[in-house]
Amino acid sequence: MNADLHCHSTASDGLLKPDELAERARNRGIDLLALTDHDGVSALAAMRVAAESRGIGFVDGVEISACWGAIGIHVLGLGIDPQHAGLVAGLQGIRDSRAGRARAMGESLAKAGIDGALEGAMAYAGNPSLLSRTHFARFLVQAGHANDVKNVFQRYLVEGKPGYVEHQWARLEDAVNWIRDSGGQAVVAHPGRYGLTEAEMREFLGTFKDLGGAGIEVVSGAHTPDQNGDFAVWARQFGFLGSRGSDFHGPGESKVDLGKVMALPAGIEPVWNVLMEKAADRVPHPPHSATVLA
Ligand SMILES: [Zn+2]
Ligand SMILES: [Zn+2]
Repeated sequence: MNADLHCHSTASDGLLKPDELAERARNRGIDLLALTDHDGVSALAAMRVAAESRGIGFVDGVEISACWGAIGIHVLGLGIDPQHAGLVAGLQGIRDSRAGRARAMGESLAKAGIDGALEGAMAYAGNPSLLSRTHFARFLVQAGHANDVKNVFQRYLVEGKPGYVEHQWARLEDAVNWIRDSGGQAVVAHPGRYGLTEAEMREFLGTFKDLGGAGIEVVSGAHTPDQNGDFAVWARQFGFLGSRGSDFHGPGESKVDLGKVMALPAGIEPVWNVLMEKAADRVPHPPHSATVLA
């Protein structure tokens, strides 16, 4: 089973449209795909058609920008209902706040001597409520301030650098509740990317579990192979479901291609078992003949 439950389309900061993503997924032998755009669900309907028409199973997903204290955490919602009112309103609130953060990033970069960053990032995002650090990164590379997108993050867009702006995202408990209320599984995205110490990780995962979190992305395109192994241990310790995702954004930009991450280590229940069970429950059963006769 080649399941890739984390990728992005042009509806957030990905480079490919749903049809192009689905074509790529088919060419790479993916059986089950989730689209997880940042804080938005607008491409899910088109993505489902594109995937299913190519014989690929599809899971509705989203990647929510949340805060645990001062630390930004990404929470994947897998198997969500994209129409659920509470989820839709929560995501809208986050998108509204993106435009303000982007303005502050533009001003901060201007102070560091880089003009036109907001306009430059907008040329990539197309819509102020989608503006992310990735769009600023593309502008900074294009304007010659760094040679690639990975390099530009370290120089300009992480804490302590000129383009970094602290921002209040959704509270962790709100993100988990929106996902659960809409019928989804809340899963910590790329847990190895937050720079937590072992003690902090233990506290964070305990909190996430208590809030109703279902799993963690054990295998991620944003992890080293060692980190995948470490998070398999954490998942077993906490009884979390395990997920697997490339976090693919686009050809030439993502170091890992769709579906090309390692297999989920043994001894971990894959989150897609639960997702597929739920999907099967939703398919209406034909009336049983005995019931009809009764
Ligand atoms: Zn993320
Ligand atoms: Zn992502």
